[in-house]
Amino acid sequence: MEVNLKRKDDALRHIVLSGHTQYQQPEITSCRHAGEVVPVGPYEVMAGGTMYLQSQDLQRADVLVPLTDEWARLLRNGHRYDVLPAILPDFGGVPKNWRNFLCGKVLPLLEEGKKVLAFCTAGHGRTGTFLASLIAILETREQTPDPIKAVWERYCDEAVETLAQAEGIFAIRGEELPDEHYQRTLRYGQVLIPRNDES
Ligand SMILES: [Zn+2]
Repeated sequence: MEVNLKRKDDALRHIVLSGHTQYQQPEITSCRHAGEVVPVGPYEVMAGGTMYLQSQDLQRADVLVPLTDEWARLLRNGHRYDVLPAILPDFGGVPKNWRNFLCGKVLPLLEEGKKVLAFCTAGHGRTGTFLASLIAILETREQTPDPIKAVWERYCDEAVETLAQAEGIFAIRGEELPDEHYQRTLRYGQVLIPRNDES
């Protein structure tokens, strides 16, 4: 009974939103990221997007790392969630303390064997940045010269969406972004995304 009611609500909401001229699906992609497991160094992280995650997917994780602040619809009454928020701007970059945050807060969880689920909206830009950043920390340059390519291979080739994200990933190792990533970014139409050199 409850399921039917829920579906009715969802259908109604969809109709209302569709009638609003400002409403558009954020992204149409062939992939649906709902907490798949991605290797990062000796560990694994679950990754997804709020567009695809269901409430029950959250129950599979020990700790949630929301990279977006729009995920309240996934929360269920009566459930306990351990949450480590790491809100990143959509189509933005990473904060100055990004590496320290990952090393100081996220790695200890992985070392403890916690199942960590990181997610943004579609599971591409911010989630891809999170995964590639962990790879940049946990895997050497010799093992994995390009953490972004590694995420494309292990997770999704639409992961990491902006110059600022890509630069932030390579900056973790004190490196410049290889030219080929600029070309990819241009191809994906991200040239309008401003670089925020101050953050
Ligand atoms: Zn994808």
